[in-house]
Amino acid sequence: MPQKTLRVSWLRDKFGNAGSCFIGPERCAEGLLPYARRSLRLAAVALAKAPLGAEASSGWAQGGIAAAIGPDDDPELHLADTLAAGEGLCDVAGRAADYGGGAGRHRNAASLRVRFDRVTTGALSLGLEAAHARRRIVHATGDGTGRAIMRALSDAVRATPSITVLEGLEARRLLVVDGAISGVLATSSSGTVLQPTGRLVIATGGVGGLFLHSTNPRGAFGQGLALAMRAGAVLVDVEFVRFHPTALDTDSSPLTLVSEAVRSGGATLVDETGTRFIEMTPRKELAPRDVVARAVWRHMSEGHRVFLDARHSLGSDFARHFPVIAASCAFAGIFVGLR
Ligand SMILES: Cc1cc2nc3c(=O)[nH]c(=O)nc-3n(C[C@H](O)[C@H](O)[C@H](O)COP(=O)(O)OP(=O)(O)OC[C@H]3O[C@@H](n4cnc5c(N)ncnc54)[C@H](O)[C@@H]3O)c2cc1C
Repeated sequence: MPQKTLRVSWLRDKFGNAGSCFIGPERCAEGLLPYARRSLRLAAVALAKAPLGAEASSGWAQGGIAAAIGPDDDPELHLADTLAAGEGLCDVAGRAADYGGGAGRHRNAASLRVRFDRVTTGALSLGLEAAHARRRIVHATGDGTGRAIMRALSDAVRATPSITVLEGLEARRLLVVDGAISGVLATSSSGTVLQPTGRLVIATGGVGGLFLHSTNPRGAFGQGLALAMRAGAVLVDVEFVRFHPTALDTDSSPLTLVSEAVRSGGATLVDETGTRFIEMTPRKELAPRDVVARAVWRHMSEGHRVFLDARHSLGSDFARHFPVIAASCAFAGIFVGLR
């Protein structure tokens, strides 16, 4: 059998091998920007298999950013809610180090000119979501928060001279020499390239694409985990998969998420008989997502159908609060808010 020869071209960033490489720049962008601005002499390469933000869950986020910034709130309370939702499974030290992070994230996004929704007094509009005892979710353009943040982050990344953005390149292999990362092998429609790097950050999204029904972009099937594992990394906590309890039940793939913010707005989960089957669960529709997802699954397994009833709570206001979801519903022939 003739040996197959792989033609590889070398992508050398402006500063040789010293730069860092970020695979999946969306989530990384928060860290990538300060890094690139601080160390202008160390180039950063942002590598994504689709155009920036195009095949990324980050741009699809509907709910928003949880931040303990309300007058009745503080980071300790936020931490307590997080640990309660974790039911003893949280890494307490890790959570404690991170619990003020939401406020910082909101400040970072605001500094990139993301316009968060405000109430008539001018104060930030704070939404309530599952497992939170206080109103602490900030949104931009209702359910378009991820899109607004990603647009601002992508613009900022593109405008930073020390960041080279490589789009349409799919990382296929991490190269390791003497136990240290030395490069990323990536492919595109025009061939295979090698990006040398001594430092690598991987944020390639979730694993939803491995499931039959998913709300994630199709390209999110855990490639980053596989790349890292093959290069010798130890994976932890992979058993934790976050399920969205409610999505629009259509034939489309992926499914359109119906954010828990809709339940926070008062929509109730009912079955075909109109029975609110989650009534007995503490916090009902606003229980932590895994609790709601399990309740929905159990009820469906017993042969019931499950609906989200927003007629009396959100009614004709639905489309104003959730323009993205309302548009998806209309596309599927469901005209929410119209009686
Ligand atoms: C519908 C939906 C709604 C959500 N709502 C919220 C919310 O309200 N609040 C919240 O905090 N979280 C929300 N989440 C979760 C949040 O969006 C994700 O946790 C987060 O976006 C993950 O960020 P990421 O950068 O790791 O992945 P992504 O944003 O998915 O980006 C992955 C990137 O990696 C690239 N990539 C993948 N594989 C490769 C490869 N082999 N080579 C090169 N590039 C690759 C992709 O092209 C993409 O650019 C939501 C998720 C979904 C799907």
